[in-house]
Amino acid sequence: MFISEIEPPRGEPLRITDRILRLVAPNPGPMTYHGTNTYIVGTTVIDPGPADDAHIDAIIAAAGGRVDRILLTHAHEDHVAGVAPLVERTGAMVAAGAVCPNGRYALETLLFDGDVVDGLTVVETPGHSRDHLCFVLGDVAFTGDHVLGWAPTSVLAPEGCAARYHDSLARLADLRCRTFLPGHGPQVRGTRRFLDALMVQMAERERSLWTLIADRPAATPELVERSYSNLGPQTRSIAERTVEAVLLRLEQLGRVVREDDKWRSLQ
Ligand SMILES: [Zn+2]
Repeated sequence: MFISEIEPPRGEPLRITDRILRLVAPNPGPMTYHGTNTYIVGTTVIDPGPADDAHIDAIIAAAGGRVDRILLTHAHEDHVAGVAPLVERTGAMVAAGAVCPNGRYALETLLFDGDVVDGLTVVETPGHSRDHLCFVLGDVAFTGDHVLGWAPTSVLAPEGCAARYHDSLARLADLRCRTFLPGHGPQVRGTRRFLDALMVQMAERERSLWTLIADRPAATPELVERSYSNLGPQTRSIAERTVEAVLLRLEQLGRVVREDDKWRSLQ
């Protein structure tokens, strides 16, 4: 039974179902929306979020004082920085799809597709990051940054891979979960329609880039220049990595080729 989503004050959990609680971490921003969502399922915590003392306190309180295991959707800072302090306070075990690159926590369990941990089934969903996992519990999927509740997911080359991202979206669609609980933003109901809209949006972006290239071959920075206006240095870098990821997928599909740094359309 789902309870309608009215955000409680920061630091207080929202009850999503009788088994699932959500806390929003105090790290709002252009890439994190209101903040990272931390989910508590019994004594299991999914994505502790940032290393913020008040947030770690709130997680432990929401879990009734006991955290046995921490599951990670992926090793980006806004999801994992709080792992070490949470382990220190609770002695929880950590399980994820890859070892955290900065080695700030020990990984007790390396997770693979189909593994079941504390009743949650692991689904490998690379694309946003190489190590990305979703976790499925009944007809609910914890989608991390694979599917967000407020904006399209960023797939930034070279870490992000648009081809794998497409495959992973199809994989998620096949599971027919009725609800997505994302790493940022509100829960998603009507998941089929939501995924269809995402795929249409991605296809449109591919088509418009391909059309630009068919019009005149160009290198990635020039294509960004022709597609966006008013970019600052940081948004320009994100735009270039996003466009590059889309182009690499089109190259894999045999629709464009890169020659002397310039993309040229093939069909
Ligand atoms: Zn994130």
